Amino acid sequence: MIDLELLKARFIDKHGLAPRIFRAPGRVNLIGEHTDYNDGFVLPAAIDMATYVAASPREDRIVAAASVNFEGIVSVDLDDRDALPRTDWGKYIQGVAFVLETRGNRLLGADLLIASDIPFGAGLSSSAALEISVGFALASICGNTIDGMELAKIGQAAEHEYGGVMSGIMDQFVSVHGQEGRALFLDCRSLDWSAIPLPDIAFVVCHTKTRHNLADGEYNKRRTECENAAAMLGKTSLRDVSVDDLEKMESQMSELLKKRARHVVTENARVLSAVASINSGDLRRLGELINASHESLRYDFEVSCPELDTMVEIARRQPGVLGARMMGGGFGGCTINLMLPNTRGEFMSKVSRAYRAETSIEPELYDVRIAAGVEEVFINK
Ligand code: ADP
Ligand code: MG
Repeated sequence: MIDLELLKARFIDKHGLAPRIFRAPGRVNLIGEHTDYNDGFVLPAAIDMATYVAASPREDRIVAAASVNFEGIVSVDLDDRDALPRTDWGKYIQGVAFVLETRGNRLLGADLLIASDIPFGAGLSSSAALEISVGFALASICGNTIDGMELAKIGQAAEHEYGGVMSGIMDQFVSVHGQEGRALFLDCRSLDWSAIPLPDIAFVVCHTKTRHNLADGEYNKRRTECENAAAMLGKTSLRDVSVDDLEKMESQMSELLKKRARHVVTENARVLSAVASINSGDLRRLGELINASHESLRYDFEVSCPELDTMVEIARRQPGVLGARMMGGGFGGCTINLMLPNTRGEFMSKVSRAYRAETSIEPELYDVRIAAGVEEVFINK
């Protein structure tokens, strides 16, 4: 938890006036992995771990940001568009500020102080939370209102053009639109979405504390493989391929592309089934779909790793667990685990112990609650 009083006090100490404070959350994804960049379906939810930005406008056109979590002061001159691209965390600040202006939002300079309790690089999307909280803060302190989907697109463009990651829209979308107690069912092609009220189930995220360095290269490779598979099937994207189509066309494709396509096509179908299961209260079925997602990511998409598989296997042995799978890009990071709420405490202690015993790695487990999207926060005194 971030101490907002302390954040405010630090800001006042530094800048001599009280800031406004904005918050944007990290996220989990229940199901729908590696489907977003294939124009497919996803089912993410915002969580109660978030990035907070204390902000006040300046008289010049400099955005000056500091972070409680990272070193250095980032200074972005809004009138110097030829400035060298930054390589540290400042790239996200630079990216959001410049993209906001490019897309027609004239900004004032700003002083920003950032603090987050989202673990970095774990797959809970701290980068999207940073983009969205900063984007919302910069616009709000100038009195600008930005449409939610436009803000998500600004965050995504910052991630692409300045962050160097060609991610889909999911992370920024859910950081904007998240709702307490609801998952968001998003069609990544049309951007149509709906909020799906969740039943009384608990989510625990288990961080393997591993990240194999092939992650970025393999991510881009999977994107290309998916494009190639769609092209071979004569479609714009794998979104347009059904399980039936795939079976008919399989003989014409290489073993590798067949597996990649099968993951995406079956994963899209699983997202639709998961939404139906939640709506009908069939938690057992929801858990089975989550388990099947992991197997598909492991064997067909080949983005898992021994630590993720171990974490998932340990989780599935615990009482009350409905489903467990790797979450995010893969090759390390976190798993998401769905369970009956009263088993959460026991799950956390047993899984920590067993993972440590099997891998000699100390994991981190997070008991997450499904929370709201970006907002201004007011401290009640
Ligand atoms: P993920 O999004 O999965 O957490 P990324 O590598 O995409 O992982 O983003 C993490 C990076 O985002 C950090 O290394 C840092 O550069 C930046 N970042 C996230 N949160 C903050 C923060 N509170 N302050 C400064 N930089 C941050
Ligand atoms: Mg990220």
